[in-house]
Amino acid sequence: MPSRRAFLQSAAALPLLSRCATMPSAAASARNYSPSGLPLRRVMVADERVIRTVAGLRPFRPKGFVVKAQPFGDKLVIHNYGHGGGGITLSWGTAHLAMELAMESRHKRCAVLGCGAVGLATARLMQDRGWDVTIYAKDLPPNTTSNIAGGQWSPTSVYDDEELTPAFKAQFESAMRHAYRYYQNLVGPRYGVRWISNYTIQPQAPDGQAFTDEYVAMYPQHRDLKPNEHPFDAQYVRHYSTMLIEPAVYLPAMMEDFYTAGGTINVREFHHQNELLSMDEPVIFNCTGLGARELFADRELMPIKGQLSFILPQREVDYIILGNRGLYMFPRSDGILLGGTFERNEWSLTPDPVATRRIIDGHRAFFATMDDPWAK
Ligand SMILES: Cc1cc2nc3c(=O)[nH]c(=O)nc-3n(C[C@H](O)[C@H](O)[C@H](O)COP(=O)(O)OP(=O)(O)OC[C@H]3O[C@@H](n4cnc5c(N)ncnc54)[C@H](O)[C@@H]3O)c2cc1C
Repeated sequence: MPSRRAFLQSAAALPLLSRCATMPSAAASARNYSPSGLPLRRVMVADERVIRTVAGLRPFRPKGFVVKAQPFGDKLVIHNYGHGGGGITLSWGTAHLAMELAMESRHKRCAVLGCGAVGLATARLMQDRGWDVTIYAKDLPPNTTSNIAGGQWSPTSVYDDEELTPAFKAQFESAMRHAYRYYQNLVGPRYGVRWISNYTIQPQAPDGQAFTDEYVAMYPQHRDLKPNEHPFDAQYVRHYSTMLIEPAVYLPAMMEDFYTAGGTINVREFHHQNELLSMDEPVIFNCTGLGARELFADRELMPIKGQLSFILPQREVDYIILGNRGLYMFPRSDGILLGGTFERNEWSLTPDPVATRRIIDGHRAFFATMDDPWAK
């Protein structure tokens, strides 16, 4: 065990330590801090701390999202939908690709169908290019799937590996890189975006084939930890830094930017694509998420239901856990999010009590064995 003096010396070398959370404890050592120097505190999981349980439907296509231009009567429809479990992450990236398609036309005025993360990013990019933009949407934040999202910057669960084509992979990678850069411009309290440590608990030894291995340049501080380098009761733990986007902060800020730039939002539901023909705008972006299944008859689009329970916020907890068996923890200011589930083709938005029990009990067991010297 390190001496108190050695501990204080090592703590002094960690510039980001917050004073009150890091009062030296005789038992604290380097394993109790993230690589950025933040203390790793235990999540207090208990039934009486649960504040809400919600479910949402990820707009998933096994072949991946659709970004393409389609002439439709005298309109140009630009599709931008089907982002699965990575639509917050990829929104700016696919919006960039959709924007490039629109810029090939001679127009300066467009409609954006949809007011989730994808519609808002698309609308903002077109405004930045000097276009006059109107959003039309059936539901606005906080009543979109984008509000249900956990919000980790993670372009995963977006396609099935066996369906991946070289053409889609190129489009996906381009969107991912753009999204990685755009979000870095938004880091800070105004948009609710911050860098954060992710600890991924792995069931077996790493084989170098994981998604984060392939795209390691977008996962800083990427490292497999030895058991004495982290406070979790797990043999294989991977660390990297990523961004966390808080939907309850981010989406209203995006709407405010859209209004400030002169945009208009109309609440309107479209029942048939022919309704598009009578719209005033010559260019129409389709950012309707799962709604595109009916509106544009895309039968490849399916829901993947995800369920989350929130417990009271803990300001001292500032790291993400991706655990075994699909469990994950994101610390947000509106509550500590505990997930989750992935149910294909499940349309119900009603939380399942059996899944809730599994999520709460699984996290309680995980954090009970975590070493938190400050909690003793
Ligand atoms: C539990 C859960 C956790 C998730 N975690 C993450 C995460 O950590 N990171 C991440 O990147 N992603 C995550 N996701 C995925 C993410 O939520 C989605 O990919 C994303 O929200 C899709 O955004 P969107 O704008 O396409 O769709 P939506 O947010 O659903 O917005 C669609 C818009 O279109 C409108 N619309 C639809 N049909 C019509 C119609 N016929 N007429 C008019 N308007 C219409 C809707 O009203 C809405 O305004 C998660 C999802 C779930 C459910």
